[in-house]
Amino acid sequence: MARVFNFSAGPAMLPQAVIERAQQELLEWNGSGMSVMEMSHRGKEYMSIAEKAEADLREVMNIPANYKVLFLQGGASSQFAMVPMNLLRGAGKADYLLTGDWSKKAIAEAKRYCQVNLAADTSEGNFTRAPAQSELTLSADAAYVHYCPNETIRGVEFPYIPEVGDKPLVADMSSTILSREIDVSRFGIIYAGAQKNIGPAGLTIVIVREDLIGETIAGTPTMFDYKTHADNGSMYNTPTTYSWYVAGLVFEWIKEQGGLGKIAEVNARKADKLYAAIDGSDFYANPVEVSARSWMNVPFTLANAELDAPFLAGAKERGLVTLKGHRSVGGMRASIYNAMPEEGVDALVAFMAEFEKSHA
Ligand SMILES: *Cc1c(COP(=O)(O)O)cnc(C)c1O
Repeated sequence: MARVFNFSAGPAMLPQAVIERAQQELLEWNGSGMSVMEMSHRGKEYMSIAEKAEADLREVMNIPANYKVLFLQGGASSQFAMVPMNLLRGAGKADYLLTGDWSKKAIAEAKRYCQVNLAADTSEGNFTRAPAQSELTLSADAAYVHYCPNETIRGVEFPYIPEVGDKPLVADMSSTILSREIDVSRFGIIYAGAQKNIGPAGLTIVIVREDLIGETIAGTPTMFDYKTHADNGSMYNTPTTYSWYVAGLVFEWIKEQGGLGKIAEVNARKADKLYAAIDGSDFYANPVEVSARSWMNVPFTLANAELDAPFLAGAKERGLVTLKGHRSVGGMRASIYNAMPEEGVDALVAFMAEFEKSHA
């Protein structure tokens, strides 16, 4: 059976070259006599894999030396709690931008630990835009500012990095990390679950400025303290060794593609093609303000929801799968992360035109 173009929002496609490399090395890694899955995380072979992955990520994202890169577990969802636990530092308040389903979850969790000031709230327009910088109502006594640069479910992406003065800016980048170059120094913390643009599920990457590590609220579990992981090279307990290894292969693949600048060119082209297909037809629609449309997650509806099922069936016949939209939004969602080849988007656009012709 041939591999399909998988438009899943996550876990998502991995680059084929990465899977092939993992396959080659599956039984026996580099003369070690064993699979990476069977290695001690403290052995010299595995340490070399882990260190190379971190070095490559630092190079690819141009991460400054005063940031730690942590390879954790628990998903982005655990960061919803770890962020307030580590960053409140005696303050009772934090600023959150409410722009969709994921920031909403982050806010619900933060409310267990502090007062949340909604520095922006786009729920009124049903989360179809990013707030402008001038709309942000930041509070003087907030410990940090949290936002979600790309809301995965509704496909809304900030076209800018919020300016928040000297407060640490915290970003849930789960569905947009590595999609383009960013200035890491603008952030206090960047976190992301791996299963969208980094590698296999299970791994969570946290990039944290060193001065933000070391002061937690009372009762913080050892495993929820960034210092625990920063002091132990993310090996205080057994890390997700295999996911970390595959993530390392993805970072190498990004370097081979020419780095994030080149990756971004392809991503922009893929997104442009898909939005052009949607906008160029009365049959398909996307409600997101043009300036805030996501490069990574493209939701769209058909003129008639009764055609959703035949659309999905026809797409599947052509090897275009997992296009069903999130249950809260309906319609379709095409997630086109780094590993989705441009041919996958071309095939989807061609099918959309064909389907419209036969059903409009
Ligand atoms: C997928 C996703 C999450 C949840 O990630 P888990 O790793 O499943 O906890 C959180 N935030 C965003 C923006 C996401 O896309």
